[in-house]
Amino acid sequence: MATSLFDEGEIKKEIIRVMHELYRRGLVSALGGNVSARMPGSEEIWITASGVFKGELNEDDLIKIDLEGNVLEGFMRPSVEWPMHVKIYKVRPDVNAVVHAHNPVTTGLALAGIAPKPITVEAVVTLRKVPIVPFNFPGTDELAEAVGEYIQGGARALILQNHGVVAVGYNLVEAEAIVETLEEVSMTMMAALIAGAKEPPLIPERDMELAKKLYGI
Ligand SMILES: [Zn+2]
Repeated sequence: MATSLFDEGEIKKEIIRVMHELYRRGLVSALGGNVSARMPGSEEIWITASGVFKGELNEDDLIKIDLEGNVLEGFMRPSVEWPMHVKIYKVRPDVNAVVHAHNPVTTGLALAGIAPKPITVEAVVTLRKVPIVPFNFPGTDELAEAVGEYIQGGARALILQNHGVVAVGYNLVEAEAIVETLEEVSMTMMAALIAGAKEPPLIPERDMELAKKLYGI
């Protein structure tokens, strides 16, 4: 178990690391995307600030808020997406990390009505089912409510139509891995479609069951 779960200093370092990595991979732009995390069971979260350059984020750009959005620590304004983050923590006590990114290929395929399918073992094991949430304007309570509804059933990731993706995890590494796997699976799907596959073959049901057993899903 990662020690980061039990140490706020480590959580802050992890948020910075994840944000830099997402920027390096082109999954967030200079001002886009936001990340939050909490200690298990805590009603206080650390979240990235609004309007700061994500490529050089540092610990002064993190804000601690409670689940009503009150600022407890830090000097900046929290991400405008804070209502969506706190909604997720409220409906999912098992979640300690939320990553919101702007995965270009995943978001693009969703505009064509294509959600991630079980085309690789990772898609089966890491992503499972990824619902597409209809468009709501970023930062609104409407978006937070819609995300809450779609995530409360146990999904590990959502696609926000015309916007990006949200992944959740027990810790930051898990949420980060889901966002990266989403884009990897979407790139693979796009390659298959460009190469002419009309209906790319899926992993057979029997093998999906086997994978789920193997990974204890
Ligand atoms: Zn966004």
